Parts: sequence; structure tokens; C-alpha cells
Amino acid sequence: MADILVYALHYEGAFNKNSLGAVSEGTKLASAIGGECHAVVVGGDDLTDELCGTLGNYGATKVFRAKAPEGLAQPVVDAMAKVIADNGQSYALFGGGLLGFEVGAGLAARLGAGVAMEVTAVNADGDKLTAERPILGDSAISEISFRSDVGIINGRLNAFETQAAGSDTAAVEDVDFELSSHAQQATMKQRGEQRGADVDIEGADVLVAGGRGLGKAEGFELAEDLAKALGGAVAATRAVVDAGWYPYAAQIGQTGKTVAPKLYLAAGISGAIQHKVGMQSSENIVAINKDANAPIFEFSDLGIVGDLNKILPKLTEAVKAKKGS
Ligand SMILES: Cc1cc2nc3c(=O)[nH]c(=O)nc-3n(C[C@H](O)[C@H](O)[C@H](O)COP(=O)(O)OP(=O)(O)OC[C@H]3O[C@@H](n4cnc5c(N)ncnc54)[C@H](O)[C@@H]3O)c2cc1C
Repeated sequence: MADILVYALHYEGAFNKNSLGAVSEGTKLASAIGGECHAVVVGGDDLTDELCGTLGNYGATKVFRAKAPEGLAQPVVDAMAKVIADNGQSYALFGGGLLGFEVGAGLAARLGAGVAMEVTAVNADGDKLTAERPILGDSAISEISFRSDVGIINGRLNAFETQAAGSDTAAVEDVDFELSSHAQQATMKQRGEQRGADVDIEGADVLVAGGRGLGKAEGFELAEDLAKALGGAVAATRAVVDAGWYPYAAQIGQTGKTVAPKLYLAAGISGAIQHKVGMQSSENIVAINKDANAPIFEFSDLGIVGDLNKILPKLTEAVKAKKGS
């Protein structure tokens, strides 16, 4: 029997979307390899039986609840290592996100286990799992199998789809474990949402993405106006978030988010490979760039060569006129 243990991260009384996706994926995979999907949650008193039990809606049969400081990787490593030692799960699965990457790496070191990071798909092969990981700037896929007793799989952001599996509530079991001394060396001072983090970039049907061609932070107002008129959200390149023109939460690409909206309008973006990998699956890509040789035109459905300072306001006006607003 090969059970799968999924780390479910929560914040302010709700589970993180990528964690729910991982529980759904873990449930599907566990049934394919003849096991069960278990979840582990780490935190304080807000982890009520009721909240933990909701993970059953996504297919978890059991939830291991560990009382420990939240938001830090090491306590989660301690808790997961204990759950795996006591219950013998064969795989640990994480949805995308930095904390999961940190925990996955720590758990791999602790257990001497193999780890696959930035995974985009997981497949069942008999009673074993193999993971697909894009490599070489997403131009090729490597397939990873595990020789260790436990295999650790960290999904890429949004790699796993959330699917409700019914209305069963999961059994909740408290984990009896001790924090290692090094897990007590750091404390969480403050936790807050980054500006722009409330915008659902991954869920938006329309994204107006801005790059260095917007000239300065204020240039983003042009993108915001158009996004508002279209009922979409604003995204950005790494160059502009690094420059402080727009929040990191809006970054698309290799080290940012991966999106696939119906319309991706790229304004003043050159189309570097590291940006392309985060948006190339968009249904329609429209690019505005003053350089006719900009690489973005090579993978755009529609290209407009010109100055975005003139084109964006006109587009916004046209959309508003069409919508009668
Ligand atoms: C390890 C690594 C990871 C990275 N990860 C990411 C990532 O996740 N996401 C990401 O985006 N980048 C990432 N990058 C950076 C990436 O390589 C590019 O540097 C970045 O995407 C460029 O951003 P840009 O298109 O905004 O700027 P630029 O490349 O400077 O392009 C600006 C464009 O605007 C056009 N322009 C200028 N003025 C106007 C105007 N008035 N009207 C119309 N067009 C105009 C120019 O012709 C140009 O094509 C990464 C790089 C590395 C090395």
C-alpha cells in the first residue's frame, strides 16, 4: 500500500489554493497506486476539527494536525518526518509555493529522500509515482522516479487542479512530536499580504501585462486603466517588479507565476524566455512594442508595432466606448 502525505498550508481560516490542488491530485494518485491521501496541517488553535475536516472534501481520508509555530519551514519538516515515521507514507506531495519548496528540501535532507521540484505533472506507474519536471527553460521534460523509500514531489504553482471529491469529512488525528532544537531558533515576527496579492492573476480571463517599456512606475496606470475597462487584472515582468514599479505578486514567468488567460496583452515587454514560460499557454497573446524585431512578436497572435503611450489610452477608450461606459 502506498499512501501519499500532502502538506496543506492555511492562512486566516482557509486552505491555500495550491494546497487544495495538491490534496486533489494526491487523492487521484493515491487511488491509482492503491493507497490513501493523507494531509498534514501545522499551526495553532485556529486549526479546528471543522477546518481540518474540510480537507476531506478534496479526498483526504485522514488529517494529521501538528501544533507548532506557523509559517516557518523547520517545524513542518519535524511534523512531517514524525508522521511519515509513524505511518509509513510513501510520498510527500506539495502544491506550489516557496514554503513548500523549503519544507520539501528540508524533508528530503532529513529522510535521505529523493526530491523532484517544480513538477508540472505526476503519473502513476504500477504502485509507484513518477514526476515530470520541465527543464532547459521549459523546452524539454525530464521524468523523475524515486529509489528512496519516500519520494518528495513539489508541484509548480497551479500545477494541480482543485477538484471537490465529495462531502466526506476527514478524520483528524493530533501528532505527538517534538520540535528539534534548530526548529526553535527562528520565530515569525510578522505576516502580511504583499500589495497586489489580493488580485487573482492566475484566475483572471484577461491580463494586461506591463514591462520596462512603460517607462516608470506611473506608466502602470495605462495598463491598469485598460485592465479595468476589460474587466481583467494587471501583470508584470521581473524587470519592472525588481525596479519596484509593481508588486512581486504580479510577476509572470520562470521565477513568477504561470498563467493561461483567454487574453494576454503584453505592453512594452521584450519577450525574454524567462517571461515566455509563464504566459505562453495563454489562448490569445497580443503584443504592443515599438521594436518590430522584439522577440515577443515571435509567439504573439497579434502584434502592434508602435508607442504604447499612444496605443494603450486609445485601446482603453475604444473598449469603454464599445461597452458604453
Ligand atoms: C534566472 C532568471 C529568471 C528570470 N525570471 C523572470 C521571470 O520570471 N519573469 C520575467 O518577466 N523575467 C524574468 N527574468 C528576466 C528576463 O530575462 C528579462 O530581463 C525580463 O523579462 C525583461 O523584462 P521587460 O520585457 O519588461 O524589459 P525589456 O527586456 O527591457 O523590454 C522592454 C521592451 O519594451 C519596449 N518598449 C520600450 N519603450 C516602448 C514604448 N514606448 N512603446 C512600446 N514598447 C516599448 C522595448 O522595445 C522592449 O522590447 C529572469 C532572468 C533570469 C536570469
